[in-house]
Amino acid sequence: MKRERVKKLPKIELHCHLDGSIRPETLRKIALQHNIYLPSEQDQLKNLLVAPQDCQNLSDYLERFDLVLTCLQTESALKAAAFDVISQAAEENIYYIEVRFAPSLHTKKGLSLPKVITAVLAGLEQGQQQFGVKSNALLCGMRHEELSDIAKIVQLADTFKTDGIVGFDLAGNELDFPPYTFEETLGLVEQLKIPLTLHAGECGCGQNVADAVYLGAKRIGHGIAVKDSPNYFPLLKEKDILIEMCPTSNLQTKTVTTLADYPFRLFLDAGIKVCINTDNRTVSNTTLTDEFMKLYEWYGITYADMEQLNHNAINGAFISDEEKRTLHEQLTNNY
Ligand SMILES: [Zn+2]
Repeated sequence: MKRERVKKLPKIELHCHLDGSIRPETLRKIALQHNIYLPSEQDQLKNLLVAPQDCQNLSDYLERFDLVLTCLQTESALKAAAFDVISQAAEENIYYIEVRFAPSLHTKKGLSLPKVITAVLAGLEQGQQQFGVKSNALLCGMRHEELSDIAKIVQLADTFKTDGIVGFDLAGNELDFPPYTFEETLGLVEQLKIPLTLHAGECGCGQNVADAVYLGAKRIGHGIAVKDSPNYFPLLKEKDILIEMCPTSNLQTKTVTTLADYPFRLFLDAGIKVCINTDNRTVSNTTLTDEFMKLYEWYGITYADMEQLNHNAINGAFISDEEKRTLHEQLTNNY
């Protein structure tokens, strides 16, 4: 595959975190408007925002979000950030993207949760108007937070379901807060019929992936650890679960330590559906084009494989059947 063609071909992305995907230049503009100090040297700034290839673990990776989050505490900053992510999606011909964020991380200066959500949706909408990239957002609850606070986020996902919030996710510390910690919260998600994707198997064990499915997840963020529990493969197939793989991020966070252990082929050969994502464009210093090019370099995937991976993403997207049909057609016509 050729990079230029991969970049031009229509793509779909379902797993992209807002706070991990803001371009350093955009963050600089936001910081300037809010009188927040950032290192003047671009390289120094990048060091603070981009996780090294040799992160020790997931926590080491998650530290890269601290500076960004201090900058994303106002409506204008959140709107600019969301718009920035859509402009990056447009640059590499992403036709549909689901951007996720945790509203509770943006209330440090007193912004209310609904205002956080409205601001992000406004930025996505502005991006859609300007670039024609269709997008929706997913709300994340942070695993370390009080269950009652996470339940509030679930309620907000319901409140904003006709305004562009199309699903719910749990992000953050998986090791200390495995899926069944949230049985009651996820019961509420199910009761409200909110589409559910869960980070699972990013660290911890394959059991977390199976538990996420038992608790109602239709998609799994990362899912890597299930590679060592093939006894759960039939469950994933039977429930038609989509695994949102994020190759660069998964190697950075030491979910796997060597490429040979990366289960891309294993999942495909087992008949498990996967799609490809960036996770965090800035923190992982990547684009969706880069991710597909890596799969080409590592596994020799073809354009036909790439098309299939994007059809998988459409099938798993939290959108209507009619919207899916349109995207499938656009993909088929362009590959
Ligand atoms: Zn993620």
